Formats: sequence, structure tokens, C-alpha cells
Amino acid sequence: MERTKCLILGGGPAGFTAAIYAARANLSPIVYEGIQPGGQLTTTTIVENFPGFPDGVDANTLMDNMREQARHFGADVRSGTATAVELGQRPFRVTIDARTELEAETLIIATGAQARYLGLPSEEKFRGAGVSACATCDGFFYRKRTVAVVGGGDTACEEALYLASLAKKVYMIVRRDVFRASKIMGDKVLATPNIEVLWNCNTQEVLGDAMGVTGARLLRKDGTVFDIAIDGFFLGIGHTPASALFAPWLQLDENGYIVTNGKTSATSVPGVFAAGDVQDPRYRQAVTAAASGCMAARDAEKFLLEQVNS
Ligand code: NDP
Repeated sequence: MERTKCLILGGGPAGFTAAIYAARANLSPIVYEGIQPGGQLTTTTIVENFPGFPDGVDANTLMDNMREQARHFGADVRSGTATAVELGQRPFRVTIDARTELEAETLIIATGAQARYLGLPSEEKFRGAGVSACATCDGFFYRKRTVAVVGGGDTACEEALYLASLAKKVYMIVRRDVFRASKIMGDKVLATPNIEVLWNCNTQEVLGDAMGVTGARLLRKDGTVFDIAIDGFFLGIGHTPASALFAPWLQLDENGYIVTNGKTSATSVPGVFAAGDVQDPRYRQAVTAAASGCMAARDAEKFLLEQVNS
């Protein structure tokens, strides 16, 4: 059976940054990219907030470059998804695509998270053409325009507040008559003049034409159906971390995020580290994911060194 000092699961900014650092530390890492090569970032177009690119950078180009940089230092980047893990003893055992088994002395989990969507066909049709699940990525394109944010949690409030600083008007589409968000966030939203909260409303359809989103058709709880005119439709209904496979082995929080120890990437199992959105419900940015990938590689390196010296 193939054995590696460092196995990295995930091919987003966290996984590739971990790979760059682990390769440069002579850990000869193997990286499995999973079903979405390049990670969540590739669902957006231009990335304007990754430092070092004053004119922005195409998301796919950015990820291709990170992959190339990891390979350049000797990381073995492969495609495949982990389908089973055994983390009860070291070396850990990981099965890829239900057929290839590997042994890993350390494991870095950088499997990311998926933004939740409503599941409407019209939402799918306009994805990337006015429908987005990332206000910090795409909000800038809606300066002085009108947008809607779906959801009533902290993410939706944060998105609405961010968008309100750019857009002319922000609608919040909330399915109940209360926020789920913390009081402080909800109060901030209610105190923002250019945010209008549409309580008790669900989206029936995202409306648009060849140029992209033009509106949304909403159904209020009292049965009223009405349209709003918007240029952008943002989802803020939560994320699902890709952690289910690890649930029997690792401590997860109540939302399924892998719990890491203090300011490190260490999980509840020594030798297993987590980086990026799978352990971060809060910041979820490419740059923070990359930084945590660096931390995980350094933690793995230190862990292996301590094993040798113990
Ligand atoms: P939450 O699960 O807290 O909230 C999701 C929101 O989306 C709820 O209002 C929910 O409605 C609504 N929703 C879910 N599904 C649908 C649907 N199909 N149609 C319409 N609305 C829907 O997710 P968040 O991402 O907001 O937060 C996750 C965690 O991260 C929380 O613990 C939060 O506190 C934390 N967080 C903290 C931040 C901070 O401290 N700055 C920033 C962002 C997140 P309903 O209430 O009716 O279920």
C-alpha cells in the first residue's frame, strides 16, 4: 500500500497552500483535489480581494497557478475524492474513490464547504449572471444598483450590510418574521436605511433575461405573490462544510465544522489537521483559507518532527 508523510484532501486555496509549504518542507505531500478542482473559488469569476493582483485575477487562473506552484515544489497533485477514512490509529488509512487505499502519517483536511442554494431552476440558470453566494466576492459589481439577499442568519445580515455599503438598495428576503441572526447583527440591519427587510417571504423564482437577473418573484406567507426589481440575487442561507466523512473520528461543532485547537490547525486527533472553510464558519475567504493551509502544513511538519524526537 502506498504511504505518504502528508496527505492533503482538497484542492482549494487551503489545500494548495498546505501543499506548497509541505513540499518545501520535504514532506512529499500527495494532494487529492476532489470533485471541484480549484475549490469553491472557481464558482466565481474575477477575484478582486486576493492580495497581489491590483487588477483582480480570474478565479480559475488563480487556482491553476496555486496548483502549478505546488507541483513545482514536488507536490503530487491527483484527482480523486476520499470516500472512507480510518483515523483510529497512525498511519491513518484513506480510501480514494472507493478503490485506492493510502496510508498517511499526517492528514490535512482542506475539503471546504459548499454554499447552500434554494434549489430553484431559475437560480441555477442565472448562477454567475446575477446569482451569487458570496457578497464579498461579487458585491463590487453592484455599486449603486439594487440587490436582494436571501436568509435571516448572521451570514445574510453580514452580506446585506456589506452590500448596503455599495448598492443603492438591498432587499432582505426572510422566510420567517424574525431573524435567526444575533441581535446585534439584526439591529444593525434594521438601522441601515437602504436595507428593506421583506419578512415572511420565500422566493418562487429568480427573474431575468439574456443579460442576467432582473428581479425575483416572492410569495408572502399570507399568499400574496409579488415581484421585486433587482440586479443581483445573493444567497445567505448557510454553508455546508464537507466534513461528514470525518464525523465518526473528529470533533465537529454543532454546524458540522471541524473543531481546531486554539490558534492551531490541530483537530481532536493528533496528526490530523484541518484548514480552510471546513473549519471556518466565520471568515471563509480565499486568503484566510490559504493562510490556514500554511498553518496546517507547518503543524504537520512540527508533528512529524516531534514523533522522530520522541
Ligand atoms: P444559519 O443557519 O444561522 O442561518 C441560515 C438562515 O437562512 C436562517 O435565517 C434560515 O431561516 C435561512 N434559510 C435556510 N434555508 C432557507 C431556505 N431554503 N429559504 C429561505 N431561507 C432559508 O446560517 P449562517 O450562515 O447565517 O450562520 C452559520 C453560523 O455561523 C451561525 O452560528 C452564525 O452565528 C455563524 N456566523 C457568524 C458570523 C459572525 O459572527 N460575524 C458571520 C456569519 C456566520 P430560518 O431562521 O427560518 O431557519
